[in-house]
Amino acid sequence: MKIIFATANRGKLREAGEILGEGWELVTPADMGITEDVEETGETLLENSLLKASFINGKTGLDCFADDTGLEVDALGGAPGVHTARYAGEGHDFRANMDKLLAELGDSPDRSARFRSVVTLIYRGERHFFDGTLEGRIALSKSGCGGFGYDPVFIPDEIPFPDGTVVPNDKGLTLAEIPEEDKNAISHRGKALRKMALFLKEGE
Ligand code: IMP
Repeated sequence: MKIIFATANRGKLREAGEILGEGWELVTPADMGITEDVEETGETLLENSLLKASFINGKTGLDCFADDTGLEVDALGGAPGVHTARYAGEGHDFRANMDKLLAELGDSPDRSARFRSVVTLIYRGERHFFDGTLEGRIALSKSGCGGFGYDPVFIPDEIPFPDGTVVPNDKGLTLAEIPEEDKNAISHRGKALRKMALFLKEGE
């Protein structure tokens, strides 16, 4: 069955495709000829993911889902939160965002943080919401070149072990230093998407 994932990020698309598995033809707005971006004017992750999903559903009438993610840093009172993508200003510049975050935190000993994702699914005309979090801390400096966004400064508390369990991240590896499939196995978005996949499976 065809379903649209409201994203232009190929990594996210791959991740969602693997999680949904066979039986789903995953397409992007661009594949459907939609090139406009919806403005993320919501005050919460849920509102923004709903805005994105509603926009695409309104244009196509097809089942679709959208995600919105925020990074919550405890010592910054939960910032950047819903402003994560534009933390250092418009332009979604990953490096500028990380530099601002490291500067704001300085040498604060409390570096605890989490990624939070909310996925809105519009399925057969009804809205459904799924969430996922990844607990960790902000590194003192950037490390690693994998992933995207804030990955080089985010150290997850736990990382996957080859037997499928998770173990403490004793080496303090950032998300940019672990393989993509390991990140997907523990990620905030992976958790939310797996909840959605289960819902869709049960609804079949
Ligand atoms: P979006 O909701 O996916 O657009 O993400 C909002 C912001 O969070 C963007 O600045 C992303 O770069 C960042 N972000 C989202 N997911 C991740 C992730 O898995 N790792 C690092 N940064 C992320």
